[in-house]
Amino acid sequence: MGYGREPLVPFHPLTELVIAGGTVGTADGPRQVDVHISDGVITALEEHSTRHPAGSRVMDAIGMYVLPGAIDVHVHGRDPGFPEKEDFGTLTLAAAAGGVTTVVDMPNTIPGVDSGGVLESKAALAHSKARVDFGLWGLIRSSSTADQLESLAQAGATGFKAYLGYAFSRSRRQVMYAPDSDDPDLESPPDYGTLLRLAPVVAALGLPLVIHAEDPGILAAFRRPLESYADVLASRPPEAEAVAIAAAAAIADSFGARLHIAHLSSSLGLRAAEVAMRDGSTLSLETCPQYLWRSDADFTQLGTSMKVYPPVRTAVDRQALIEAVDQGVIRIVATDHAPHSDAEKARPLEDAAAGSPGVQTLYLSSLELAKRLGDVWKALKWVAEAPAVLIGLQESKGRISPGFDADLAIVDPRRGTVFRPALMRSKQKHGAMEGLESSFSIVEVYVRGRLVVKKGRAVGGPIGRMVKPS
Ligand SMILES: [Zn+2]
Repeated sequence: MGYGREPLVPFHPLTELVIAGGTVGTADGPRQVDVHISDGVITALEEHSTRHPAGSRVMDAIGMYVLPGAIDVHVHGRDPGFPEKEDFGTLTLAAAAGGVTTVVDMPNTIPGVDSGGVLESKAALAHSKARVDFGLWGLIRSSSTADQLESLAQAGATGFKAYLGYAFSRSRRQVMYAPDSDDPDLESPPDYGTLLRLAPVVAALGLPLVIHAEDPGILAAFRRPLESYADVLASRPPEAEAVAIAAAAAIADSFGARLHIAHLSSSLGLRAAEVAMRDGSTLSLETCPQYLWRSDADFTQLGTSMKVYPPVRTAVDRQALIEAVDQGVIRIVATDHAPHSDAEKARPLEDAAAGSPGVQTLYLSSLELAKRLGDVWKALKWVAEAPAVLIGLQESKGRISPGFDADLAIVDPRRGTVFRPALMRSKQKHGAMEGLESSFSIVEVYVRGRLVVKKGRAVGGPIGRMVKPS
């Protein structure tokens, strides 16, 4: 400098945004630090100061929790295919409003995501609407080939999902719940044979294999008219979950495939998983807020809003799942966000669609559960850290640490939230978590350093990007 010459490179402040004065949820526990962000990435955690680099914006977070954005690894955005239920815009607005900064969408959209080409067109569509970052699961059909799985991996699939018991309509290119149909249009559901045939391919690709774990044979044997909630439980016994988990674990472990159990719902299923883990299985477990907060007793109040598959079971099951989450046996809480239209949910129990929206309730219900279990910071592992590991983003997302994406939820621990329909940003306002109270509320949400939600309202446009496993 000096001699009247301008510097050759114009001055850019290293820090563009400072989130200052909050209690920051780091991987090592809560810390009173300022979070410095540049270009969407966390650059430093520094002792709280009131003086900040020239040109940087400062967000005053005094009294707030500054938390890593949640990653919901199990959502059904219904797009393309079911605009009456949800689309990627409403899905990701609901996610953002709930502090979820990455969603991973299930492949049972139309067409089913069974090849790299289908995944690429879905990614383009999602990209045009997404307010948070997103990953996409690929679909395993009973006819899937190694080439198809490889093309999915090439296109950036997070991993693969196999719906045991769910057929595939060739003409509609759609996954359908049709366990015992002889319609020639329906390709038979993937079964244990499919898993055995494809496990070596999945293992070689190194991506997770997610299963909907309910044994179709058991479900077929116990089918009955659903007149009461007791019928729902009797028609889907927990043994169906336990058997599917044990079988899939045996198959995956033979080849070293990474098995992930979606929406674990029962104490018996949990026990089957624990037995497999004791024998050296590396399977990972996910459960959902509806199984941690609800039981069959809530049906009187909630009705078909809490009809989900696998079903919400007894208080004993719920307690077993809570303890397993608390002890880190179940590492991931995700929502199985699965909205349907009001008309589809208003039918009698037998015909009402199974599924409930949930993505917006993930963070606040998990913080509440963790608080009741005596350590609110534990929730960060369930909804951010462990999900990031599952989907191969442990080096960029799920933690507040230098070098990580600035995906942040600013949470007020002094103001609570009640999940009322009017608050919900999903197309479906009613769900299994309706009426639940959390001691926390979401104030602001950032995706890669950009404000996407302020006090429940969307800010800016669809800036979400697709994430691919590293
Ligand atoms: Zn699901």
